[in-house]
Amino acid sequence: MSNTDFALSVEDLTVSFDGFKAIDALTLYIDKNELRVIIGPNGAGKTTLLDLICGKTKASAGSIKFKNEEIIQVAEHKRVRLGIGRKFQTPSIYENLSVFQNLEVSFPSGRSVWGALAFTATDEIQARVKAVAADIGLGDKLETEAGLLSHGQKQWLEIGMLLMQEPELLMLDEPIAGMSARERDLTAELLQRICQNRAVIVIEHDMDFVKKIAHKVTVMHQGKILAEGPMDQVQADPKVIDVYLGH
Ligand code: ADP
Ligand code: MG
Repeated sequence: MSNTDFALSVEDLTVSFDGFKAIDALTLYIDKNELRVIIGPNGAGKTTLLDLICGKTKASAGSIKFKNEEIIQVAEHKRVRLGIGRKFQTPSIYENLSVFQNLEVSFPSGRSVWGALAFTATDEIQARVKAVAADIGLGDKLETEAGLLSHGQKQWLEIGMLLMQEPELLMLDEPIAGMSARERDLTAELLQRICQNRAVIVIEHDMDFVKKIAHKVTVMHQGKILAEGPMDQVQADPKVIDVYLGH
């Protein structure tokens, strides 16, 4: 076994659904502080790959190492505690709670939402909530009820809720869907800030957005990697144009 500095090493990862290989012997390495974007046609296996990394779906074969530790058998909730954060496409914020409270209840203390509210936030939690709120551009919205936020602000709040747990790997599936142009620009800036302290994997279709944020791009097709590299290289690849960008 070799030790590496990768945040994430995925090797020969396979998952079959009734004999259909949605992920097929896939190998992928993500550096610490890297912002990787995964693109590819619908059904390529992008979401399934994130499901396997976060533990929502059990792999059929292969290896997933997080900071050199094999996690393929580790339960989903334990992967969260190890530092793997995953944002799903539908936001799961508490609409009736304020921005402050949403962030506060996401502090990793093991307490339930109701338990956490019965306590006064300690100085440590308060400081963290304020820092994260500033990071996600909601520093002046701490007392606003989450249900009153714009669609984009709700998405940022959910990213903030994940940041409260200080993940070392953060995964986002189509984070700018439904956002305005201005919200997309702000999200690009947000992602560039948060990958300074962690590895980030983003699945996205919007090529202008991908160009703005990606360090490297991985193109998936039929459960495998079709191409990988800097955006301009991937964009000029005839295989990629053929199965994805040309359409
Ligand atoms: P993408 O996110 O790239 O659009 P998905 O990962 O959602 O692709 O899906 C990849 C393929 O795996 C699709 O053909 C999809 O129908 C199939 N798939 C995903 N999850 C399951 C599942 N739980 N059971 C059966 N088939 C699935
Ligand atoms: Mg998907």
